[in-house]
Amino acid sequence: MKGKGMTLMDWQKQYGTEEGCIEALIKQRWPEGFRCPCCGYDNGYAIKTRGYWECSQCHKQTSITAGTLFHSTNLPLTKWFWAIYLVASDKGGVSALRLSKQINVSWITASRMLRKIRIAMGHRDSLYRLQDLIEIDDALIGGRHTGGKRGRGAERKTSVLVAIESREKRAGFIAMQQVS
Ligand SMILES: [Zn+2]
Repeated sequence: MKGKGMTLMDWQKQYGTEEGCIEALIKQRWPEGFRCPCCGYDNGYAIKTRGYWECSQCHKQTSITAGTLFHSTNLPLTKWFWAIYLVASDKGGVSALRLSKQINVSWITASRMLRKIRIAMGHRDSLYRLQDLIEIDDALIGGRHTGGKRGRGAERKTSVLVAIESREKRAGFIAMQQVS
């Protein structure tokens, strides 16, 4: 799911309906098309109303949301997708109260959603391993310069090791780690 750089209008167009959300989950789950997790067969059909796919060989039904943070949810996927949009686009962090008003759910539901989304976002990095050509450098961040030493060794700055996937003229994924 690409949250960053999408406008509200783009988001609404793509994920404004349950079908749109299901479509996005299918693409994420089976980028090269359906594959049965039970027998490995690559032919199946969607039971769209329920968000399931059925394998044409062994007839096992797989939930589109299995293994995702939406699993066994009673809420419409559109509400989940809006919550993700709000979390991803709000740098200050959206509160449970605000989220509950925006997507019309109870405060308890909103705070549960926020917890799940934040855990999922926190795990995103650990699921992705940088690939191919990787450039590594260190950087100093934070701490306003107030005279004295500049650059490395300057006070109140934190050293960070940065690794970037080099994809021709642009950067791919970036990993950062604080180092002493
Ligand atoms: Zn199967």
